[in-house]
Amino acid sequence: MTPDQLKKTIGAIPDYPKPGITFRDITPLLQDREAFAAAIDLFAERYRDSGITQIAAIEARGFIFGAALAKQIGCGVTLLRKPGKLPGATVSQSYQLEYGEDSLEMRADSLNSNDNVLIVDDLLATGGTAEAAAILIKKAKAVIVEAAFLVSLNDLPGEQKLQQQGVACYTLCR
Ligand code: IMP
Repeated sequence: MTPDQLKKTIGAIPDYPKPGITFRDITPLLQDREAFAAAIDLFAERYRDSGITQIAAIEARGFIFGAALAKQIGCGVTLLRKPGKLPGATVSQSYQLEYGEDSLEMRADSLNSNDNVLIVDDLLATGGTAEAAAILIKKAKAVIVEAAFLVSLNDLPGEQKLQQQGVACYTLCR
């Protein structure tokens, strides 16, 4: 399955979660076993033998793609979670939402300077979430290899925001 074929399995829900916003719905892709497998295979082709030690997977849909890809390329999974969900000492990074603020947390002992890390999430929009992920990984002094997304929204500044952090993006569907 090509990226263009994958794109056809992604839904567009008008006025969700708020009027005027079109929500890209990846759940039909997950339910289609060929499409889900193809998405993971396309990522794996790119990242196999790239020396990645950890996938930093962003809650919640990033966990799905991150875990499947980690199995395929043979690396670990580091969870970047919403606040208050990880045990032990954590590091935290807040980011702006359209209205208000949210934050991501990572266990303080998850990564170190020997790690080569791939950030994985389902979708890149404004880039605030992925930027917070990049800052957390840098706090641990690990190397960021790239950030990988199933979908990037072209009309939003996510890629530029990551570029400012020195992080390159790879996206299957635009
Ligand atoms: P950003 O921080 O604005 O780049 O938003 C990206 C985060 O919000 C990701 O973790 C996505 O899972 C989620 N997200 C934002 N918009 C959508 C959408 O249209 N469909 C699915 N997830 C979305």
